Amino acid sequence: MTKYIGAHVSASGGVGNAILNAEAIGANAFALFTRNQRSWVSKPLPQLEIDGFKALLIDRGFKPEMVLPHDSYLINLGSPDEETLQKSRAAFLDEMQRAQQLGLTMLNFHPGSHLNKVSEEECLDQIAREVNLALSKTEGVTAVIENTQQDRRRDGRDREHRRTGHQPRLEV
Ligand SMILES: [Zn+2]
Repeated sequence: MTKYIGAHVSASGGVGNAILNAEAIGANAFALFTRNQRSWVSKPLPQLEIDGFKALLIDRGFKPEMVLPHDSYLINLGSPDEETLQKSRAAFLDEMQRAQQLGLTMLNFHPGSHLNKVSEEECLDQIAREVNLALSKTEGVTAVIENTQQDRRRDGRDREHRRTGHQPRLEV
């Protein structure tokens, strides 16, 4: 059985560069951001960049199902704040659509945080609703939950992410 191993690589300068960066470290799988992970709004991926990504991926021998985009750190589908929730909903759908456009099969996301303002159960119900909504508007992309073991409050968790040089994992 082939084992797949990789890292979260930079897509700076275009998503195709992630392929080259993964290749350079000898990876046969990789994670990437398909948009600015610290911004709510991103320009759509140009068709040329999408086509280039797909062609290069095949050319360099990567399987689309071994590429795992990671969503923006700002997105919180469990947010008790209506404005943040609306922004998160739009950004999450955009992330899922980008994955689909690139011919990828998964999107790695952080489930979100209730920020201690609503119950965990309400928060989880909301996240499930939001994920289902995005799934109903896209095709062929699975939303992959990234578990975290840190403090449930987002602030703490993000600090932990930075401190540990957090990188999404690919599990096959
Ligand atoms: Zn993550």
